Amino acid sequence: MSTFRCMPIDTDAAARFRATGRDDRGGPVHLREVTGPGFPCRHCLRLGRPGERMLLASWDLPLPQGPYWTPSPVFVHAHDCARGEILDALPETVTENAIVSLRHYDAQGMVLYDLGVVVPGEEAEAALRARIDDPRVAYVNIHTARPGCWLTRVEKA
Ligand SMILES: [Zn+2]
Repeated sequence: MSTFRCMPIDTDAAARFRATGRDDRGGPVHLREVTGPGFPCRHCLRLGRPGERMLLASWDLPLPQGPYWTPSPVFVHAHDCARGEILDALPETVTENAIVSLRHYDAQGMVLYDLGVVVPGEEAEAALRARIDDPRVAYVNIHTARPGCWLTRVEKA
C-alpha cells in the first residue's frame, strides 16, 4: 500500500498575501476573524481557532497546469504559522469538513474522471487509499465539495 504526503500552499504565497494584502488575481486579501468551523488554513493545514484572524485570498494552484488548471479561494492564518506537511494521514482541514471532493490527476495534469469521488471528510482517507495505488495517479487535489475550495494536494510519498 502506498504512503502519501499532504502538501500545503507554498510558503512564499502565504507570505506574499500577508505582506502585500493582494491575492493572485490582483484583488485585495480579505481579513476574517474565526467565529466557528469553516476556516481551514492551507499553510499549516489546521483549522483556525475562534478569535484567530485569517486572510481570504484567491490562489493560483501550481497543479494541475493545462486545461484543468483552476484558481481557488483559500484561507491562511493572518499571522505566521508553521508549514504543514503530513505523512500518511489527512489533515483536520479535510477530515473535519462535512463533504469533500477528491480530484485525481495523471502526470500530464489530466483529470481521471473514473476515480473522482465526493465523500464526507471523515471518509476521505479510506476513499483516497482505495484509489491512490492506481498507477495512473500522479497526485490528488482535495477540495470542499460544495464551494469547491482547494484544501490540500496529496502526493505519493
Ligand atoms: Zn495556518
